[in-house]
Amino acid sequence: MCRLSENVTNENGKSVVNVECTENRCKIIAISNQKGGVGKTTTCVNLGIGLARAGERVLLVEADAQGSLAVSLGISEPDKLDVTLVNILEKVINDEETWPGEGIIRHEEGIDFIPANIELAGLETALVNIMSRETVMRQFLQEMRERYSYILIDCMPSLGMITINALVAADYVLVPVEAAYLPVKGLQQLIKTIGNIHRKLNPSLEILGILLTKVDRRTNFARETSVKIREVYGERVHIFENCIPLSVRAAETAAEGKSIYLHDPKGAVAEGYLSLTEEVLTLTGCEDKPIESEGVEASGQQKGGVQ
Ligand code: ADP
Ligand code: MG
Repeated sequence: MCRLSENVTNENGKSVVNVECTENRCKIIAISNQKGGVGKTTTCVNLGIGLARAGERVLLVEADAQGSLAVSLGISEPDKLDVTLVNILEKVINDEETWPGEGIIRHEEGIDFIPANIELAGLETALVNIMSRETVMRQFLQEMRERYSYILIDCMPSLGMITINALVAADYVLVPVEAAYLPVKGLQQLIKTIGNIHRKLNPSLEILGILLTKVDRRTNFARETSVKIREVYGERVHIFENCIPLSVRAAETAAEGKSIYLHDPKGAVAEGYLSLTEEVLTLTGCEDKPIESEGVEASGQQKGGVQ
């Protein structure tokens, strides 16, 4: 989301447009798939910490009543937390101010996160009767854009009102898909919902890509699924180059409360998430360098082509 600012002339007499990463530089990525167990939370944690290791300021937001993001980041009993995403969203609904840093927990691996717990399920039901019910999360995250360069939302396994809130707040959706099951039908439904939200509520929403997870490289089945997904979706949707392999090491990280980079730094899962991090940086990146546009009048209102 770079902005092209004024047109200036460089020493060679060429017209130069300065690309500025301004208040809009923050990218919000919803990690979503209505199927459970496909690696959404694991991806949120390891992509988030991967981005932080690359120097980005990262906030992870848990939009799932299960609290598994909180658990993966070392909080053993999220249901006992006093302040979670629920309190923050309730304040937005009631037009109350949140204080800076409210509900945000700092993790030792350089990211901030907002946990959730079972109370989010109650809020989801309550949202139905609220005005502007689809934009509550966007209102809150809009304020957070100034403070972070990436905000990742760990969505719940449903396409209910909280997930719709996440998709309305986001710039991009990243879809983890488990390679061990043929997900064509479920994916179609998700892509349709994303399309509807794009048309009706959030025109800037884009699918960042499909990430194949839990890929058992020893089986033909996983390979066939991956080929099939590329065949069916590859033309319309980006498929991330590298997949995340199936490994017990990935499953262990949740219990440890830390990322795969600390738990098994040399393993194939760490390698997979590092490669994903690089690809996400490239796909969403905004490089602070001038674009030369010889002889072209540049408009300050134009948007940068960063996708
Ligand atoms: P979701 O958030 O979509 O429900 P999770 O990230 O919680 O999915 O993953 C579901 C389960 O699979 C968890 O027990 C997790 O530890 C495990 N898991 C995640 N990624 C991998 C992987 N690459 N290999 C093996 N197990 C994994
Ligand atoms: Mg999850």
